[in-house]
Amino acid sequence: MHAHPEPAREEHRTTDLVAARLEKADVAVQRLPGTGLVAEVGRDAGDRESDVRTVGLRADMDALRMDDLTADPWRSTVDGLAHACGHDVHTVALLGAGLALREQHARSPLPGRVRLLFQPAEEVMPGGARDLLDAGVADGIESIYALHCDPSIDVGQVGLRKGPITSACDQVLVRLRGKGGHTSRPHLTQDLTFALAKVVTDVPAALSRRLDPRAGASLVWGYVRAGSAKNVVPSLGEAGGTLRILDVRAWELARGFVTDLVAAVVAPYGVQAEVEYVRGVPPVVNSAGPARSFARAATGVVGASGVVTTEQSLGGEDFAWYLERTPGAMARLGTRTPGGPTNDLHQGDLRVDDRAVPIGAEPAGPGRRRGAAGRRPAAHRRRLAPSARPASRITRLRAGAPRTLRHRRPSAVDRPVCCA
Ligand SMILES: [Zn+2]
Ligand SMILES: [Zn+2]
Repeated sequence: MHAHPEPAREEHRTTDLVAARLEKADVAVQRLPGTGLVAEVGRDAGDRESDVRTVGLRADMDALRMDDLTADPWRSTVDGLAHACGHDVHTVALLGAGLALREQHARSPLPGRVRLLFQPAEEVMPGGARDLLDAGVADGIESIYALHCDPSIDVGQVGLRKGPITSACDQVLVRLRGKGGHTSRPHLTQDLTFALAKVVTDVPAALSRRLDPRAGASLVWGYVRAGSAKNVVPSLGEAGGTLRILDVRAWELARGFVTDLVAAVVAPYGVQAEVEYVRGVPPVVNSAGPARSFARAATGVVGASGVVTTEQSLGGEDFAWYLERTPGAMARLGTRTPGGPTNDLHQGDLRVDDRAVPIGAEPAGPGRRRGAAGRRPAAHRRRLAPSARPASRITRLRAGAPRTLRHRRPSAVDRPVCCA
């Protein structure tokens, strides 16, 4: 899977692999339109009428449009595509969890059922989470859980926190048009390059004075383009970036502020400004009850010392949309080899210590207490498939109070986004 990365909404091979492996274990799968699939294991799987509680587990499946810069034997075989966000790890861990739960259910029926959500297209905006929610395949879930790889913590550790764990993430495109001309006579042009430079520097600065600094807003440009010759003032230029915000209330205000500030900054130069603002995702907010349940389950796998408190990141994650409707929690799965480098997500040299996969997959349970982070990763590898989640553990993945805050959906433009 790592060697054959597929971009958002093109995860056909990945979907086929997961479906084939589940079907081989007699788990019925529901393929989603395009890519992605859903399956259930546990009591009365597939019987939506029965009064059985359902817990959701979600993994994302898509890769990034970037080069794999590693020299590993399992490196990407597709130019311009790489699993540099670890979604292949999430997919395989969820598959492993599903197979383990299936085995457990065959030995001793689970008291509830677990729905496995293999979601496409997390890396784009709007994300695949919206597709699954709109298709109704997340209906009836009383709590939902997910993992994301974290190369800043060692394999054998799981990072958790109550409350927000990621941030809101929107996309901003500023396009300027104006009269071009000779660089010797800028007064006869609208010097669009100069105006664009002012946008790039002044809009983030002014935004920091319009939004509460405690909101942690960060507008960072990913590209700036204008012109092609040293002595020509161009007539078109643009800058694109992301705006990440820790706080939901500030997120609601940001769009209007950015639009107004761009207009104000370019006004002296006479250029025309167009702002394409794409609302992305709200923060992932871990509910208190599910976060505690997740911590207990993780303790059963990596031991108490392996469960570490993590910070709220400025990454965005479309898992947030599930938590708009259903209580749940996301945890960070340590993927760094102890003593090794911290190559970040979305870097071409990201290397995941694959001992993280069974840790992400392994159902937790009493009697499976482990040592501290990184001390016994080999044991995790050996114990992957046959491990058992005692039935009582499923019922402990119970919901906290439902959240009532709701947000507008993003626009229907499919754009690369960001995550964790
Ligand atoms: Zn990502
Ligand atoms: Zn990701």
